[in-house]
Amino acid sequence: MTDGLNRRSFLTASAAAGLSPLAIGAMPRKPAGAGSPVIVASGNGFRYLDEAMEKLRQGTDPLDAAIELVAHVEADPNDRSVGYGGIPNEDGVVELDSAVMHGPTHGAGAVASIRDIMHPAAVARLVMQRTKHVLLVGEGAKRFALAHGFKEENLLTDEAREVWLRNKERQGTYWVPAPDDKVAAHIKQEADNLTTGTIHCSALDTHGDLGCVTTTSGWGMKIPGRVGDSPILGAGLYLDNAVGSCGSTGLGEINLLNCSCYLIIDEMRRGKHVKDALVASLKHIAEVTSRNPRYRGEDGKPNYGVTFYAVSKDGQYAGANMVGGARMAVHDGKEAKMVDCVPIFE
Ligand code: ASP
Repeated sequence: MTDGLNRRSFLTASAAAGLSPLAIGAMPRKPAGAGSPVIVASGNGFRYLDEAMEKLRQGTDPLDAAIELVAHVEADPNDRSVGYGGIPNEDGVVELDSAVMHGPTHGAGAVASIRDIMHPAAVARLVMQRTKHVLLVGEGAKRFALAHGFKEENLLTDEAREVWLRNKERQGTYWVPAPDDKVAAHIKQEADNLTTGTIHCSALDTHGDLGCVTTTSGWGMKIPGRVGDSPILGAGLYLDNAVGSCGSTGLGEINLLNCSCYLIIDEMRRGKHVKDALVASLKHIAEVTSRNPRYRGEDGKPNYGVTFYAVSKDGQYAGANMVGGARMAVHDGKEAKMVDCVPIFE
């Protein structure tokens, strides 16, 4: 492909092909309003904040801007906690969870345990738009995505498979490593300390409208069919267009047990500042959850990690996490930055 025209048409065609899953269901742009936009996200969204902010300024719907931001991470083979390249379940299959909420219509859609589809957040948006349901799971969710033109893709990268295999082998049952164990050091390290990640993004546009999304491959080595908090409204995300938007990463079971994001938005609805709402809700979650010894360390403190990201209707934002330090990605309309979350326990 030497001549400029061919190269141009190739680039145009591949851009169109690459963008098509995100174009399916994208909403019309509005003229930009006079308000000040804000985006909050988990740290893995930082690199894409400027682009998403520019879209908000151009009148892109806040949910679309959030979905397009997280799509970068869904397609990133090096992020082992979201979409393509995510650590698979214990059978070696990548299963994804995602949900979206749209402030202006109080609409929502979600998919859980979906396989072979790289952009579950965009599928969740279509569940919102093109079904009378809110949540589709497993094979049904995949068939729905294929019906709308999403492509079936193998989401298991070689590196994620190596992490899975190595983790299986270190469990000491019947699988054993090769005698010349040549697995790269970073793969060994990941297999020994399986971490998770997920991405959440909440966006407030220039009209004061909110949109949010959470998308994940969930816990590596999970039991096939396990669904976390990310696709569950009120647990891994929630918004009320008159109040604010909130999302979470971390041990999803905690949020399933506590409807955590609903709780936080409800505290904000009752008049609490976003930071105070986060602190009050996390203290409540810590207290009720400590009744279960599974979630309590020997020192009596929570033994799990969970982090929340929230923005209010009037553009105030904050993050909080249960134990230790965490940071969140924020674009406040002026600049993209990493901000410390408030730790509830040191
Ligand atoms: N919350 C996700 C889940 O439980 C995982 C994570 O955020 O690390 O599936």
